[in-house]
Amino acid sequence: MEWLLAISFGEIFLKGKNRNLFYKRAVENIKRNIKEIGYDDMYVESSKLYIKADRKKFTSLKKEIRKVFGITYISEVIKIDKDIEVIGQSVLELIDYYYKDQNLTFKVESKRTDKSYPLTSPKINSKIGELVLNNRSNLKVDIHNPNFYIYIDIKAYAYVYINRKEGLGGLPIGSSGKGLLLLSGGIDSPVAGFMMAKRGMMVEAIHFHSYPFTSKRAHQKAMDLAKLLSAYTGKMRVFSINLAGIYKAISKNCPRKETTILSRRFMMRIANKISEDYGFKALITGEALGQVASQTLESISVINESSSLPILRPLIGMDKQDIIDISIEIDTYDKAIEPYDDCCSIFAPDKPVTKPRLEYIKESEKNLDIKALEEAAIKEMEIIEIA
Ligand code: ATP
Ligand code: MG
Repeated sequence: MEWLLAISFGEIFLKGKNRNLFYKRAVENIKRNIKEIGYDDMYVESSKLYIKADRKKFTSLKKEIRKVFGITYISEVIKIDKDIEVIGQSVLELIDYYYKDQNLTFKVESKRTDKSYPLTSPKINSKIGELVLNNRSNLKVDIHNPNFYIYIDIKAYAYVYINRKEGLGGLPIGSSGKGLLLLSGGIDSPVAGFMMAKRGMMVEAIHFHSYPFTSKRAHQKAMDLAKLLSAYTGKMRVFSINLAGIYKAISKNCPRKETTILSRRFMMRIANKISEDYGFKALITGEALGQVASQTLESISVINESSSLPILRPLIGMDKQDIIDISIEIDTYDKAIEPYDDCCSIFAPDKPVTKPRLEYIKESEKNLDIKALEEAAIKEMEIIEIA
């Protein structure tokens, strides 16, 4: 018997006018993620994608395929002749393979896509169920809460499987416009990028560093995070901007306690400018309400005022622990907690304002040549391609 991986896609894009586009995107993303591991062949049969590959590669293939949004399930299936005797025999072999001699309950779930097949789905279920009961006395049927399912898909061939793993769901990348992620070196922003990508947004990143006040390693850490994130988003660019000059100007001309807010507003304005030039329709940040001084409602609204593009904050109502859990799951946590910092301690205020008032902030900004500072920073921008 031949083993394959079978990929099922979400309801949502099996319907509607974007169906073909979504489908194409998801398949492209899968191909890109597994190119390095390698596979023998790939084909679509009535809405599922089948991948032929050396069985030894299944675990690593599944890990990479699972990072593609829009997938509901990944299964290890066997492809056999659709003769009911053959199906029955293979089901018994599969059961022995996974659960030999264990006392468990099961349920058969078959789906007949080939409507010319002589047995209806309920008939297949009862025939196979009976066969299993007669031949494996350690197993019982439980149709409400079984320990495992036996899935049978009747198409041009029969596909039989027990091992089915959930995908991440979501929408395929590229189906919801383009957003620019403000990527720091922390835990939150990669998670925020992941969440918008999961909704189908094409995500690229902008990172602000302050070299030589921040280290090269801090910069590299942000690039490493972008690389980890790109397993989900696909290849992305990181627009890298040096804010050192801007920090120096702020520290020379403005109250120290306003540094964080003032620099955040610079980040927003610069991100807006880059978005205009590169076609991003929204900014994305990792802000969560109340987490730090710059994330009070007052701060958020003063920061907001500096952006004409919408700022998407997918983490806004989340607890830190929930954000950490996601970052562990998506593999960015270990990198994010490395000590190299993206913001420079020499400029950071000991007592930042927590309830900034827009009119005071604007008053302070009058002491800065904002336009010249921004143009200088953008002129020195580096664009890093993350493969
Ligand atoms: P993170 O864990 O993402 O670093 P944080 O908890 O440190 O966030 P803040 O420092 O207030 O919180 O940053 C809030 C958001 O502002 C970040 O999630 C990120 O989107 C953006 N941001 C902050 N610093 C930078 C930076 N150096 N470059 C790009 N974006 C940044
Ligand atoms: Mg941070």
